[in-house]
Amino acid sequence: MFDQSGCWAILYSANENNYHLTNNRAQMKFSTFIAFPEMFMPKLSKPHVLLPVLCLLAGLLTSPLLAAEEVNVYSARKEDLIKPLLDDFSKQTGISVNLVTGKEEALLQRLQSEGANTPADVLLTSDAGRLAAARQAGVLQAVQSAALAKHIPAAYRDPEGYWYGLSVRARPIIYAKDRVKSAQLSTYEDLAVPQWRDKICVRSSDSIYNQSLVAGMIAHHGEAKTEAWAKGLVANFARPPKGGDRDQIKAVAAGECDVTLANTYYLGGMVNSPDPAEQAAAAKVAVFWPDAKTTGVHVNVSGAGVTAHTHNRDNALKLLEFLASDLAQRWYADVNNEYPVNPAIPPSATLESWGTFKADTLNVAKLGELNAAAVRLMDRAGWK
Ligand code: FE
Repeated sequence: MFDQSGCWAILYSANENNYHLTNNRAQMKFSTFIAFPEMFMPKLSKPHVLLPVLCLLAGLLTSPLLAAEEVNVYSARKEDLIKPLLDDFSKQTGISVNLVTGKEEALLQRLQSEGANTPADVLLTSDAGRLAAARQAGVLQAVQSAALAKHIPAAYRDPEGYWYGLSVRARPIIYAKDRVKSAQLSTYEDLAVPQWRDKICVRSSDSIYNQSLVAGMIAHHGEAKTEAWAKGLVANFARPPKGGDRDQIKAVAAGECDVTLANTYYLGGMVNSPDPAEQAAAAKVAVFWPDAKTTGVHVNVSGAGVTAHTHNRDNALKLLEFLASDLAQRWYADVNNEYPVNPAIPPSATLESWGTFKADTLNVAKLGELNAAAVRLMDRAGWK
């Protein structure tokens, strides 16, 4: 039997250096054999002609014993943030995971261009905006599962099952403890008042996190009010947007600005960083949970969906269910400083140190629906 998925894994490793590939089964020998056949057959003048044959041979040799049960994952999450979990999944289920990691947009484009020939069974990515874009692009299929419905609150999954949130990240206000009192802070809306002139650092409007925040504001307040807010916020920028969320937190700590908006796991990563400078910067800031009396703190998810053209639908679903299980949910909190999507699982000590908050109850799918409107609005507001 031809082990097609064994081959795709190996061929990608040979041909595409944009992507990083791992297989948690011991296929190193075969990948070396396929990628560098000359190491094994130095006298053959045209090894590339032999690649399909070698691949077929490798498939024959590995299948069905080694790769009978497998699932192929395209992941926009960093390998070290997801691989240990996938290894646990393999240990529990005996299902081998082939992991391709890449940038969000690149993976989506790749799924689109591969179409029905994609080897991918699961797409793992962050932000509801990107998950919604994947659904809109037609690369996901709806799946239903009692376990997923039980563990994942309705607000954190696609209403029709095209994708499921697996971890929650909040985007609160983070402020300089020595220059701002928490009593001065109240809502996202309030950051647009002149009191904060030249005091705010925020990353650019290219950031999906800011796009989703603005999409949430459109959902709650409408476009006109949100646009006026965005203009006020931009007027209060201490500097043109640059860098990622961690850079904004560092700028607050360094006194370049007094407040920022950042995803909680970045601050968690700094608090627990091996780098003393990051720890020192984190110690100078505090979290403020805005909109406690109104719409709640803007939250988003990382999540996953089963691909439209999967050949391993059952295994794909098993992987999603595993990622929503207690073990995996604890891991998201303890290792990655994300809030478990499953409310039964307590957050980590770092997350608990920031206190509890009221999360926005808007279905995060709405953030994807309103993404295009948010991008246009930020452009009109001059948010670079
Ligand atoms: Fe991030």
